Amino acid sequence: MRVVVIGSGIVGAGAAYYLSGRGAEVTVVDGGYQGAATQAGAGIVCPWVDHPEDAAWYRLTSEGARHYPALVEELGEDIGYAKVGALLVAEDPADLEPVRGLLRRRHADAPEMGDITDVPTPSELFPPLSDTLSAILVPGAARVDGCSVRDALLRAAIAKGAQVRTGTATLTPDGDVLVHATPPPSAQGRAASSSSAQNLATSGRGTESAAVSGETTSWRQATPLDVGAPDTAPLDAGAPDAAPHDVGPPDAAASSPAELTSDLGTPTRPEAAANGSGPDRDGSVRGETNGGVRVEADMVIVAAGAWTGEVCRPLGVELPVFPRRGQILHATLEGVDTAWWPIVLPRVGPYLLGFPDSRVVVGATVEDVGFAPRVTMAGLDEVIEAGLRVAPGLANATVAETRVGLRPVYAPGPALIGPLTDRVVVATGLSAYGLTAGPFTGRIAATLALGETPPIDITPYAPSRP
Ligand SMILES: Cc1cc2nc3c(=O)[nH]c(=O)nc-3n(C[C@H](O)[C@H](O)[C@H](O)COP(=O)(O)OP(=O)(O)OC[C@H]3O[C@@H](n4cnc5c(N)ncnc54)[C@H](O)[C@@H]3O)c2cc1C
Repeated sequence: MRVVVIGSGIVGAGAAYYLSGRGAEVTVVDGGYQGAATQAGAGIVCPWVDHPEDAAWYRLTSEGARHYPALVEELGEDIGYAKVGALLVAEDPADLEPVRGLLRRRHADAPEMGDITDVPTPSELFPPLSDTLSAILVPGAARVDGCSVRDALLRAAIAKGAQVRTGTATLTPDGDVLVHATPPPSAQGRAASSSSAQNLATSGRGTESAAVSGETTSWRQATPLDVGAPDTAPLDAGAPDAAPHDVGPPDAAASSPAELTSDLGTPTRPEAAANGSGPDRDGSVRGETNGGVRVEADMVIVAAGAWTGEVCRPLGVELPVFPRRGQILHATLEGVDTAWWPIVLPRVGPYLLGFPDSRVVVGATVEDVGFAPRVTMAGLDEVIEAGLRVAPGLANATVAETRVGLRPVYAPGPALIGPLTDRVVVATGLSAYGLTAGPFTGRIAATLALGETPPIDITPYAPSRP
């Protein structure tokens, strides 16, 4: 069976990995869009503190987290995964009680979270932290490097025969895949559709006060606190005529999957094929159509992140998928071993996590501003100001890097996974939880493309058929 996967973020790479392991002939297509979420993701894997009243979300994220240790072993390479634990911190210890209760209730079905303990002096575990904080530790929480996971999944898929192509994929109304060297003009409409999807999302969710009550909502802040208020980049919000560079042309970022794949020997770039230089090694490219090169497929998996709605539009569906921007900062503390520092999760505001190489990641903004993958002064200010409030000991850290990504949000529900037509499977909408649930979601998509029964009931994530 020939399967084309559109998008090589963590979900698409996961799908390619599980498909190629099952003997499918796999072609992955990625346009290297600016703002792809996977390259910006922080790497927190701690599902048990969130979605107290959303069984579908919790099922997906907790299964995703449970899936990781086996995946790490299978891949057999360093993907930055380590069970470093998570410190839930609060100024007022009373604020920790609802989440403590939630963890107690969930422990029986998720013993992998470990035994929750009080931490009287959190700065002993994460030295830059403020002395005024109270904390509890969730020892089973892990951190992971999203780029490394994606790259390792792709590498393993390629080793089993998958092909990876650089280019922008479009679908025909019948679900055929065309690959273009540059984004097609229709790509410029994405921001317009994002704003209506975003309206749907905000009208269907709780208010700011509910979001911070601590009783019934996630511990981590995954929706904007200022719902309906002007955002930090108002000019970009829902702008229907966003310039092409705002909506995702190929990206030259060092960590882009396009670069990885050329490092690994991309067989044929679409422009070469379009110039008449012949078929791919696997013979799957049959000719040009509307400026694109057709890639034959029995099944297509659309894992195009925040751009999934645009990709699927030719099928006659309007998927309410929109981008939720996150700006994030990487700092270094020279000479300090930060590799085993726990993740720090305040009730509201920025999280912090340590990685090897003396690196501390502080993030992230949560902004509904359309397809505008930019690092802004206000965004950085928000992250730095709130980060220093929680961890004043970072004041002298070196700002090493800033990143920005567009979390793919499916407005009506937890995530969007399932068959869209007889030939097209969609897998996206993982929002702030894609590094946790991405590989597992890719596995679900792979089973669906192969016509097999997915590992969990996917009814809550199913798209409505066009
Ligand atoms: C700042 C930030 C922090 C985060 N932190 C965490 C965290 O701590 N824990 C966690 O679990 N999750 C986290 N997330 C969420 C997580 O990163 C995302 O949910 C996840 O990466 C989404 O992966 P994806 O594969 O669906 O999308 P993406 O990574 O966006 O990949 C989509 C891919 O599709 C390609 N594409 C799009 N359209 C086309 C087309 N037409 N043709 C070809 N290619 C196309 C793009 O180039 C891109 O590579 C964070 C996200 C952000 C932004």
